[in-house]
Amino acid sequence: MAIATVNPATGETLKTFEPHNDGEIEERLFRAQRAFREHRLTDFAQRSALMQRAADLLEEDQESIARTMTTEMGKPLVAARAEAAKCVKAMRWYAEHAEAQLADEHPAPSDVQDSGATRAFVRYRPLGPVLAVMPWNFPLWQVVRFAAPALMAGNTGLLKHASNVPQTALYLEELFLRAGFPEGAFQTLLVGSGAVADLLRDERVVAATLTGSEPAGRSVASIAGDEIKKTVLELGGSDPFLVLPSADLDKAVRTAVTARVQNNGQSCIAAKRFIVHADVYDEFTARFVERMSALKVGDPMEEDTDIGPLSSAQGRSDLEELVDDATRRGATAQCGGGRPLHLPDGWFYEPTVLTGVTEGMRIHREEAFGPVASVYRVDGLDEAIELANDTSFGLSSNAWTRDSEEQVRLTRDLEAGGIFFNGMTASHPGLPFGGVKRSGYGRELAGHGIREFCNATTVWFGPEQ
Ligand code: NAP
Repeated sequence: MAIATVNPATGETLKTFEPHNDGEIEERLFRAQRAFREHRLTDFAQRSALMQRAADLLEEDQESIARTMTTEMGKPLVAARAEAAKCVKAMRWYAEHAEAQLADEHPAPSDVQDSGATRAFVRYRPLGPVLAVMPWNFPLWQVVRFAAPALMAGNTGLLKHASNVPQTALYLEELFLRAGFPEGAFQTLLVGSGAVADLLRDERVVAATLTGSEPAGRSVASIAGDEIKKTVLELGGSDPFLVLPSADLDKAVRTAVTARVQNNGQSCIAAKRFIVHADVYDEFTARFVERMSALKVGDPMEEDTDIGPLSSAQGRSDLEELVDDATRRGATAQCGGGRPLHLPDGWFYEPTVLTGVTEGMRIHREEAFGPVASVYRVDGLDEAIELANDTSFGLSSNAWTRDSEEQVRLTRDLEAGGIFFNGMTASHPGLPFGGVKRSGYGRELAGHGIREFCNATTVWFGPEQ
C-alpha cells in the first residue's frame, strides 16, 4: 500500500511519500535507543511539564490537525476537532496522574516478613523503545493513548502509522519534538506493513502495541512472541447493544444511532449488533430506522454532515460484500443498502439497517466497518446474552436496562472488556480499555495502560550485615 494522502471524499491523491529506506530506519532506531537512555533518567515533574506543553500545542493546532485528519481519512470535521480535544485531555490526564500510577508499591508487612526481607517494594521502571503499529480510524487518538503514558513512564515510541494517514503521523512526531521531548523520544517511521517484522526483530525494539485488524494482530503477536517481547493488541469488535423492556427507549434509540455511525461507522467500539427484546422490538426498530434514514451523508468538511465517506475504496467494497451477502441470503435492508446516488465521487455508503440476519450470513460473524447495523429480535434475557456472546469478538458491550437484577446478570455474563449500561461505550483516560477473545489482550488508558510497558521490578533487602 502506497504511503499517501488520498482524499476519500473525492478519491483524489493529494500527496505521496517515499518510504524510509534502510539507512533512515536505522537512524531512527539508533535515536530511539539514545533518547531512551536520556529520557529514562528524567523525573515525573520534567516529563509532566513536557506533556503539558505538548497538550498546549495540540490545543493551538486543533483546527489545522482536524482538517488534516478529515482530508486523510474522511471523518466529519466536527468529530475530528473533538478527537483532537480528547487527545489534549488524555495528555493532561497522564501528565497529572502518571507519578501516582507508577508510585512504588509496598506489599503487606506480613508478606515482606514472610519473604525474609527487612523491606521490599515494587518499582515500575520503563522498558525502552516501544513500536506502535496504528490504524487510520482515529489517527490522532489511537496514537496519543499509547504515546502519552509511554512517554510519561520514561519509554520512547516508534510509530508505524497506517499508510493512508502520513501527514497526521508526521504531525505527531513534530508535536512531541516541539514540546521539548528529546530528539528520538517519539518518531514516525514512514514504512509499509512489510517493514514491521524486521522492526519487531530488532533488539532495540523491546515491545510492541498494535491497534488494528485481527490478521495484523496475529502477525505482530506471533513475531513478537518468537522474540519473547511483550505486546498489547487492540483489535476488531462487533459490540452488542442490548435493549431490554425497561430501557428508556428515547435515549436508547438516539444513542444507538450515534453508537453505530460515529466516525462514519468505522470504530472498533461502535455498536454493530442491536439485540432487542420482543416487547420493544417493533417500536425500537421503527424509530431507529427513521433516525438512520434522516442522517446527512456528504462532504465531511461541512459542519452539518453526519456521515462522511469510508476511508478507502477497499473498505467500501468489503462492506458492500457483507451487506450483499446478507440480503442475498434473506436479510432485509430497512433503509440504505447501497451507495448514495447523489455522491458519485468518493467512497460513500448509505446508513443501513438490516433485519432478519441469521447465523449463516457473514455479517453475523464478521465486523461491519461502516454505517451498517444488524437488528435482532430476542424473547428474553437468556437469549439476549447468548446472542451477544455468539461472536469471536469481545471488545465492549452496551446494555439498556433499568432493572438492577438484569444489570447484575449482564455484568456477570457478557463476554467483553467493557459493559456500558444506559449510555454509549466510549474510551476515557481514567478507565481501562481493551478486549477479550479475538478483540485482543492487554489494556490501554488508566493505570492499567501505563503499567503495560513497565518492568514491575521487585526490590528486596535482606537483613543488614
Ligand atoms: P489494519 O489493516 O490491521 O491496519 C492497522 C495497522 O497495521 C496499519 O498501520 C497497517 O499498516 C498495519 N498492518 C496491516 N497488516 C499488517 C501486518 N500483517 N503486519 C504488521 N502490520 C500490519 O487495520 P485497519 O483496517 O487500518 O483498521 C481497522 C481495524 O482496526 C478494525 O478491525 C478495527 O476494529 C480495528 N481497531 C481496533 C481498535 C481497538 O482499540 N480495539 C481501535 C481502532 C481500530 P498499513 O496501513 O501500511 O497496511
